[in-house]
Amino acid sequence: MVLHVHSGHDNRRDKSVHLPDELSTLDCGEILAQSLAPGLIVYLKGDLGAGKTTLTRGILRGLGHAGKVKSPTYTLVEPYPDARIATYHFDFYRFSTPEEFLEAGLDEYFQGAGCCLVEWPDKAQPYLPPADMEISLYVSGAGRQLNIQAHSKEGEACANRFAAHQAD
Ligand code: ADP
Ligand code: MG
Repeated sequence: MVLHVHSGHDNRRDKSVHLPDELSTLDCGEILAQSLAPGLIVYLKGDLGAGKTTLTRGILRGLGHAGKVKSPTYTLVEPYPDARIATYHFDFYRFSTPEEFLEAGLDEYFQGAGCCLVEWPDKAQPYLPPADMEISLYVSGAGRQLNIQAHSKEGEACANRFAAHQAD
């Protein structure tokens, strides 16, 4: 896994990683897990099949969750209270209107100390609280490209810890 750090246009440092296969996406998630903090809101962006759920599996494994990680496509949220940091995994792909976010009472999850990982965040806008960190996944050859963008002080700290762990 090779990490490139380059300056973004707004002077923030975007971080990008090439992931040649599924195993490296899982490994990358495990490394990311060591950088997360309670209360962090992370958007996971990318097309269907880009690897958002795979990355989440790696993150939860890294947080010590030993069981399965199901895609929350139908349940909207899967909670992981047993993880080292309590984590909630969301997927809003099936929303036909963003109001479903409020109707399902999901805003409450974003007030607490849990770490929130959100697939298809755009489907819940403008109701979804802003991200501390945005992770985008793209198909790149036979593998994937992962980009991290920080949007808050906490997100920036997390992205920097990730870059440091990656270098180990
Ligand atoms: P999403 O949640 O973004 O829709 P999934 O994680 O469910 O995507 O599925 C991603 C698919 O791509 C899976 O079949 C997985 O095995 C594969 N995959 C994940 N990471 C990589 C990678 N780095 N290179 C190639 N294939 C990958
Ligand atoms: Mg998914």
